[in-house]
Amino acid sequence: MDLSSEYLMSRSGLELLNKIFLSAGEGIIIVNAKGEIVMANKRSEELFGYNEAELLGKVIENLIPKEYHKKHVKHRTAYVEDPKSRPMGIGRDLVGLKKDGDTFPLEVSLSFVMHQDQKLVVAFITDISTRKEQEAALAESRNQLEQHAQELEGKVKERTKELEHLNLGLKSQIRERKLAEAALKESLEEVKKAETEILKALDKEKELNELKSRFISMASHEFRTPLTTILSSADLIGRYTDEESQEKRIKHINRIRNAVQNLTNILNDFLSLEKLESGAITLKLVEFSLKEVYHEIMEGIELTAKPGQQIKTSLAPDLNLIITDQHLLKNICLNLLSNAIKYSPENTTIEFEVSEPEDSLLQIRVKDEGIGIPEKEQSNLFQRFYRAENATNIQGTGLGLNIVKRYLELLKGNITFSSKEGSGTEFIVNFPYRKP
Ligand code: ATP
Ligand code: MG
Repeated sequence: MDLSSEYLMSRSGLELLNKIFLSAGEGIIIVNAKGEIVMANKRSEELFGYNEAELLGKVIENLIPKEYHKKHVKHRTAYVEDPKSRPMGIGRDLVGLKKDGDTFPLEVSLSFVMHQDQKLVVAFITDISTRKEQEAALAESRNQLEQHAQELEGKVKERTKELEHLNLGLKSQIRERKLAEAALKESLEEVKKAETEILKALDKEKELNELKSRFISMASHEFRTPLTTILSSADLIGRYTDEESQEKRIKHINRIRNAVQNLTNILNDFLSLEKLESGAITLKLVEFSLKEVYHEIMEGIELTAKPGQQIKTSLAPDLNLIITDQHLLKNICLNLLSNAIKYSPENTTIEFEVSEPEDSLLQIRVKDEGIGIPEKEQSNLFQRFYRAENATNIQGTGLGLNIVKRYLELLKGNITFSSKEGSGTEFIVNFPYRKP
């Protein structure tokens, strides 16, 4: 079908246009220059609730709420003066008034037609209630969404705060735990320290016990000779009843005295060693006359010398009042001298010299012409219970030199020796002393 504009001017074309006009989905209302409705289609009847007859001739303002009338008349007049196709109500919502007084939102677009010298205005009217409702619903849900988002945001903030709080708590917990760990470590270390100390003490105790049992086995052997001597001499003394035997009696009494001295020495050695081991020996620094002590030592030692043994003594004349441990000094001298006597034959010379080679340094020198010490054994000499091979026939416990060495450690001194097997030995001791 040809629907050209020419056809539309034909009768059937006009009919078609009329049908379109009448059935259009939008309301179409045509008003004249005075604003009176001259035409209205079906949809506009439905929109406003009037029938055609009621609409025709009505001034258009009847379809608008009263409050807009004045303005509408002004706009309408202006539009007829200067008509241009345009939508109405730009920037504001338009409202339609129904016959029953209801209102509804609408959109209008206008066009202008000249017909048989009459100015006609065509208004295309769309009911936008549904759209408005949808818009409102949309706005509402947007609002709700926004509210929801805000709520969520609030919750997130709250949660964050809680987490921060938790984090802080955790941090302080971690700090506390670290402190506790450090304390634990410290006490563990203390426990360990105590443990090592206890172990050390136990070791010491064990060593001491070993020393004691070793001493007992040694003493039971070493005691036998002097005890036998004492027994036999006492026995013999009992048999010498006559006057002439006095000399023999004295000989045996001296033997007994020597044997007892021997036993006393062994016991003293052991006691010294035990004291040293248990740490009971500490320095007792006192002021005393070296000359007097020197003579005391000589008095004791000369009695034990073998027949023909000569002790050459020498004490530096300047040395008299000194401050040191008198007991240790005496013991060192006695030990070295008794060895010199013990390990030298009769008719030999022993040198005993005390001097001051340096200021505040005391030197003790003991030299003999005895059996000497085999070279291969010299390095073991200061070990506890150590005895050289060439000395096994001579009484001794092997404790004396060990004790001397340890006394010298206490005195911060030292001991050296030189020896040749078969020709003699020289011991030299040095330690610092204080002057009064
Ligand atoms: P004691 O405990 O009665 O002194 P001891 O004399 O055997 O016994 P130490 O004085 O420690 O023990 O001497 C250890 C060893 O060193 C001796 O057994 C001996 O072999 C050797 N010795 C020490 N002094 C001399 C010396 N002047 N001449 C030769 N040997 C020596
Ligand atoms: Mg000795």
